[in-house]
Amino acid sequence: MPDHILVIDEGTTSTRAMLFSADGTPLDTEQQELTQSYPGPGLVEHDPAEIWDKTLACARAVASRAAPGSIRAIGITNQRETVVFWNRRTGEPLAPAIVWQDRRTAPLCRRLKEDGHETAVQAKTGLLLDPYFSATKIAWACENWPQLREAGDDLAIGTIESWLIFKLTGAHITDATNASRTALMAIGSGQWDDGLLSLFGVDRRHLPEIVDCAGSFGETALLGGSIPICGMAGDQQAAAIGQACLRPGDTKATFGTGAFILTQAGRRLPTSRHRLLSTIAWQLNGERHYALEGAIFVAGSLIQWLRDSVKLIRTSAETEEIARSVPDNGGVYLVPALSGLGAPHWEPEARAAISGLSFASTRAHIVRAALEAMAHQASDLKSAFAADGQDWAKLRVDGGMMANDWLAQDLADMLDLEVERPAFAETTALGAAMLAGVGSGLFADLEEAAAMRGKLESFTPKMDGKTRETRLSGWKHAVEAVIG
Ligand code: ADP
Repeated sequence: MPDHILVIDEGTTSTRAMLFSADGTPLDTEQQELTQSYPGPGLVEHDPAEIWDKTLACARAVASRAAPGSIRAIGITNQRETVVFWNRRTGEPLAPAIVWQDRRTAPLCRRLKEDGHETAVQAKTGLLLDPYFSATKIAWACENWPQLREAGDDLAIGTIESWLIFKLTGAHITDATNASRTALMAIGSGQWDDGLLSLFGVDRRHLPEIVDCAGSFGETALLGGSIPICGMAGDQQAAAIGQACLRPGDTKATFGTGAFILTQAGRRLPTSRHRLLSTIAWQLNGERHYALEGAIFVAGSLIQWLRDSVKLIRTSAETEEIARSVPDNGGVYLVPALSGLGAPHWEPEARAAISGLSFASTRAHIVRAALEAMAHQASDLKSAFAADGQDWAKLRVDGGMMANDWLAQDLADMLDLEVERPAFAETTALGAAMLAGVGSGLFADLEEAAAMRGKLESFTPKMDGKTRETRLSGWKHAVEAVIG
């Protein structure tokens, strides 16, 4: 019986395929970078055809190197909220994908907020009125791209997993975690909501059917043989599963392009009074488990910006050595609002700032301030989670930035918490593999699938309270200057 799982992990900056054995050992991987298109201030687009071509190429490369007949199932995980518009008859994209980071709908969100819609939207969706979520992106596209209207019944809309599943199998479906990020689904029922569809002017006939995160979602013949797709979840939910956040209170933080912290909340829908998001952690057999989420828009992208635009550093990795080269930040703070501020501030029009500069400030202080901004943002979230009755007992971290030991230690220090890092950092892919394992009957449930998780490393707090307080008060002043 085949027992390997092929995972498609379609991220913001790259797409990859990974092969896992049933015990969680990563056997093979293939990755390709994706073109980031910034056609104007605040605009971020991807090419759906490029996403599909590169995803298929990666999956084919891994499948072709696997032992014949060894792949049992495919799991898919993806950048969330990003929307794709395609023609369901021809299978061709009709427009660029509008990426989650895109801010073009800030004016529309402001208008809807001024008209008093946010409370009802939050109650129904667990989300806020922010350009981040798919609904206003879809509304904007349908209004501004005539080819979408011209496609009539042939117009299909979906988030990235929906696009990939369509290309792989021809089915137009989405899983409940991805659907929970659109602001078009009522989170309590797991169904598209007529009131939300009419508020955002979206026609139900263009949307996919919402399904579980594990099951039989169709087969693909594109990778050799016929392989079923058995698992699907948005990347942050997949990472939480891959970190075995299966009990209420379990919390993970992924520091990739952005940073996303999720606390598992169990079967009861959590309600935030501190501007956190309620989201679906997973849906299995029609039963939804929920999570509370804090989304930080700029994390690793700040380091990329320092490298590619400002040219202050040559590589992301050297930030660790540079941060260690100075004893402290020298009074320099960096508020990374390069595309607005996310949770818990939600200021889409805020812009970044570097403050506290003097003649004594060096490149090292600025780089250190950039890294410190990660723990500062996480600390703001910790306060919001605690105020919502979901304080963290331990933080399970992952994502590309967590290769940086200095940063993992700074998080432990600033949050005054144990920080746990798995030796195998690809928790997102692992979570998708776990779901596909459950969906294909390799495991009875997620608890059993969690045996795929490997070794862990721990960082414990070492900073004294006074240093922590000084840092946090400096950060608070810097944020206040940015949001006014
Ligand atoms: P995503 O899945 O969102 O595309 P990853 O989880 O692969 O992103 O993380 C990549 C990000 O991590 C990049 O923005 C990169 O700048 C940052 N990064 C990678 N290594 C380091 C490091 N050692 N220190 C700080 N940042 C890093």
